Amino acid sequence: MTTEVPSRTRIPVHPDAAEFLGRDHQLFINGEWTTPRDGGMSVSLDPGSGEQIATFAVGGKQDAHRAVAAAVAAFEPDAPWRVMSAASRARLLFALADLMEEHQEELAHIEALDSGKPLAVARDFDVAYAIRHVRYFAGWTNKIEGATIPVDVPDMMCRTERTPVGVAALIVPWNYPILIACWKLAPALAAGCTTVLKPAEQTSLSVLRLAELISDAGFPPGVVNILPGSGSELGPVLVEHPEVEKISFTGSTRVGEEIARRAATGIKRVTLELGGKSANIIFADANLDHAIEGAAAAIFSNTGQMCSAGSRLYVERPILDTVLARLKEHTKTIVVGHQLDEDTQMGPLISKSQMTTVCNYLDRAASDGARTVVGGNPHTDHDGIFLEPTVLTDVNDDDAIVREEVFGPVLVVLPFDELDEVARRANDSEYGLAAGIWTRDIAKANRLSNLLRVGSVYINTYGQSDAAAPFGGFKKSGYGRDMGRQNLEYFLETRTVWTDLRL
Ligand code: NAP
Ligand code: MG
Repeated sequence: MTTEVPSRTRIPVHPDAAEFLGRDHQLFINGEWTTPRDGGMSVSLDPGSGEQIATFAVGGKQDAHRAVAAAVAAFEPDAPWRVMSAASRARLLFALADLMEEHQEELAHIEALDSGKPLAVARDFDVAYAIRHVRYFAGWTNKIEGATIPVDVPDMMCRTERTPVGVAALIVPWNYPILIACWKLAPALAAGCTTVLKPAEQTSLSVLRLAELISDAGFPPGVVNILPGSGSELGPVLVEHPEVEKISFTGSTRVGEEIARRAATGIKRVTLELGGKSANIIFADANLDHAIEGAAAAIFSNTGQMCSAGSRLYVERPILDTVLARLKEHTKTIVVGHQLDEDTQMGPLISKSQMTTVCNYLDRAASDGARTVVGGNPHTDHDGIFLEPTVLTDVNDDDAIVREEVFGPVLVVLPFDELDEVARRANDSEYGLAAGIWTRDIAKANRLSNLLRVGSVYINTYGQSDAAAPFGGFKKSGYGRDMGRQNLEYFLETRTVWTDLRL
């Protein structure tokens, strides 16, 4: 396993990233870098080494009010952002995407160091897809149209207009910091909203660099405000603020429920992307080379810290032993290490507390009778927060390890016999985010897909993502969708205008 890798080549930190990390980082409010009124300072750690990599300001409640006030002022009818043509808004978004591309390597280094994901993943997935999102929504900006409605009322003209919902609070988690920020910022800005973005305190750095690029691109002050800080302190202020009209949140189901409750009081528009416990289902007729690789990637990418992780693997009984043996072999080859080591395939967990959570699940699974097929041990040959990629079996449908989101590199493998049975068991979850199906029989795959109560189904693949394809959940995985044309809708209101043509 990874202990056999004696020494690693560490990629040096990109000089621009090193320079950025060494600088002072304040709050980005109303187009300026400003010291907190009632917040303070926080530090960012490299989870791969435990070392401090940067310090940055965190906002307090007064700062949250200042950030919302800036977004409100930027949304006034005569403010530059509001009088700007849609095509000009598009040009700003395209300019931002170009700047992000120019600084892709630097952004990737910042993101990898702060979040623990392997550098190549940060560059070629997180930052690359963030850029694609900005471009995709830039393209929509001047294609948001109303309609003329053929009403059954004489002499009346009726038309609809699409208008931005107003000030949007965007609250994002630590697992895909810049990417999820752009999932929300890009459609909000395309729609013409103004925004306050609260990153997760553990991973605020990449969006602070993004704020500088937003400034360089020429967005008017107050259109994007970036407010690092504690969610439990700033979240309620943002969610309950009477002038915040829309909340787009990605994070845990627990916090999502709290946001929904608070937002109900002000009749706020809310989009929630929450947790998951997604089923990945392999039939005996699947291409096993693809299925094994896909099943491993579905749970070990991003060290399992993915809302859509394929964390429950259902295997048709005749191939159970084969799949377990091949998964074991495959998992043993995964190189765990520091995110800037050249050959690292799986980086650290985000924090010690996340490690404790995951290890508690492993202990509980063991006492519930689970058998470890491979992995399960924290890594001791590295500094930082490392856990071996882990596969468990001999688990029951009611075990916590099968029902609850672990958010770590832990896969449970369960046998099944029939399509209807596996559909029922896959659906027997409070979550409904995603599912994978592996079979050469496309009719069977689609029959099963129809039965699954989830927001995304991946057939002979897993975890695909594209700026144009909506993503989100059923049930306690949330409501609304990120990405795609659909997410634009959540930042728009429809105004219906009637005109009496006789006057
Ligand atoms: P979390 O604790 O819910 O945090 C998410 C964000 O909400 C952070 O910015 C956090 O701030 C903030 N927050 C915390 N308490 C809040 C409150 N009372 N009001 C408003 N905001 C508050 O989730 P996490 O542990 O960071 O992320 C992991 C979870 O996110 C997992 O459950 C995962 O499934 C889910 N997730 C879902 C998706 C999806 O698309 N469905 C994507 C990624 C992650 P601080 O942490 O800075 O205090
Ligand atoms: Mg960090």
